[in-house]
Amino acid sequence: MAFPYNKLTEESIDTLKKLTAADRVFVGIDIQKEYYHDEMPEYGIYAPEVYIEAISKEEIAEIMKFAYENNIPVTARGAGTGLAGGATCKFGGIMLSVMRLNKIINIDPENLSITVEPGVLLSEVAAAAIEHGMFYPPDPGEKTASIGGTVMTNAGGMRAVRYGVTRDYVRSIEAVLPDGELVTFSSNVVKNTTGYAIKDLVIGSEGTLCIATEITLKLIALPKCSYSLVVPYDDIKQCIDTVPRLLNSTLTPTAIEFIEAELLDIVERQLGKVFPDRSGSAYLIVMIDGNTKQEVERDCDIAAEICLQAGALDVMLCNTEERNASVWSIRGAVLEGMKADTTSEEECDVVVPRSKIAEYVKAAKEIAAKHKVRIITVGHAGDGNIHTEILRDQLTEEEWKVTTDTVLKELYAKSKELGGQLSGEHGIGNGRLRYLEDFIGSRMNQLYKSIKLAFDEKNILNPGKLIEL
Ligand SMILES: Cc1cc2nc3c(=O)[nH]c(=O)nc-3n(C[C@H](O)[C@H](O)[C@H](O)COP(=O)(O)OP(=O)(O)OC[C@H]3O[C@@H](n4cnc5c(N)ncnc54)[C@H](O)[C@@H]3O)c2cc1C
Repeated sequence: MAFPYNKLTEESIDTLKKLTAADRVFVGIDIQKEYYHDEMPEYGIYAPEVYIEAISKEEIAEIMKFAYENNIPVTARGAGTGLAGGATCKFGGIMLSVMRLNKIINIDPENLSITVEPGVLLSEVAAAAIEHGMFYPPDPGEKTASIGGTVMTNAGGMRAVRYGVTRDYVRSIEAVLPDGELVTFSSNVVKNTTGYAIKDLVIGSEGTLCIATEITLKLIALPKCSYSLVVPYDDIKQCIDTVPRLLNSTLTPTAIEFIEAELLDIVERQLGKVFPDRSGSAYLIVMIDGNTKQEVERDCDIAAEICLQAGALDVMLCNTEERNASVWSIRGAVLEGMKADTTSEEECDVVVPRSKIAEYVKAAKEIAAKHKVRIITVGHAGDGNIHTEILRDQLTEEEWKVTTDTVLKELYAKSKELGGQLSGEHGIGNGRLRYLEDFIGSRMNQLYKSIKLAFDEKNILNPGKLIEL
């Protein structure tokens, strides 16, 4: 389907300045180059025609009305930490930053909730909750992400094993629709069967259906104590095979991550961060939360016993804040380490049933050997989401293009065969779009298109992302 977008003229830019303020509307060389891409420039570098820093929902509504009437594409931009090439202006038009809508509107201990504007950072939401004795569990690796971005990508992160993902914490979303109308999806209630669950559809819609202007999130009681275990293994299979044993026990670990020694070497080499144990070739990092020290110590003992029975070489307890922080900061730095260790990379973000993780990782290694390319797996072992990083190293542009395409197709086919999904947490964006229809099938693809058109019949909101019309 072709959509006749209009280019922005001097006159339309003047109108946008009147709707907002001249000093928050940037054009041409005044638009910083970082807004041409997100954290994955590999998924497209596109210049916005105009970059606007909105400061209120009313402004966003006015900009959308104008864009709708004039057929101008608009892409909402949070902190730009996305890994799918989502927050970019693929068809030019307006990049609309929500980062100056950054107020915490209300913390409501009676309803265990917090209401924020979309530009509040994830770290600020987490800190505000703690300040009031409560807890916001979603914990994606990049804490400078905006809360709006995490909602619109349904971000996951380390603690999903015990607490779930962002979608599990969103009570309501106020948003501007493509034609400029302001609506609210659900409200500050804990259950809701009032028709279609549109709020849940909007979560993870990657800015293709509406622009979030206010979000109410559920908080929970703050766990009083949190320890971690670092568990080395001789081989990756034993390491991953421990995961179902931990999950089938009486424990509910908060996080279970796996990391291979090869990746620890990279982080050490590139970032100088040294992991506290280097005796294994693969590691589990297990986090255990609880309300008392005794409870957490008991659960750590149970987890340690399970790991040792499953073949672990040792179990190291991290029961101080410093040691805990140091281990998790190394896990958090792996993407940065890999980026520094190669010339370019491709982010494959599949999720498979937890019982199939070992099989998937084995297949990924075979695919790497077959195509003579470096593939590193790291991930949220507790929820089956395995980041499978393909590193370019010395491949030429053409070799890299062909290799990534072939390798990705094989990885996605494996994920599908194992009952998995194409993306576990980063979304489709621009980077994974060409693999989507093949993965979900044409009927499902048609449903996606119908949903997009039901919200955005002119296809002006973040066009060419998530679904191609
Ligand atoms: C080092 C690192 C680690 C990461 N770890 C994780 C992880 O563990 N788990 C995980 O899930 N992700 C992770 N990410 C990815 C990223 O942090 C998340 O996708 C995050 O949610 C993006 O937030 P953002 O504010 O940067 O959004 P952006 O990148 O600005 O935007 C992301 C998408 O959301 C849309 N959007 C943004 N704000 C709005 C709004 N208000 N209304 C409508 N649409 C909007 C954009 O158009 C775009 O499509 C990681 C990234 C990095 C760099």
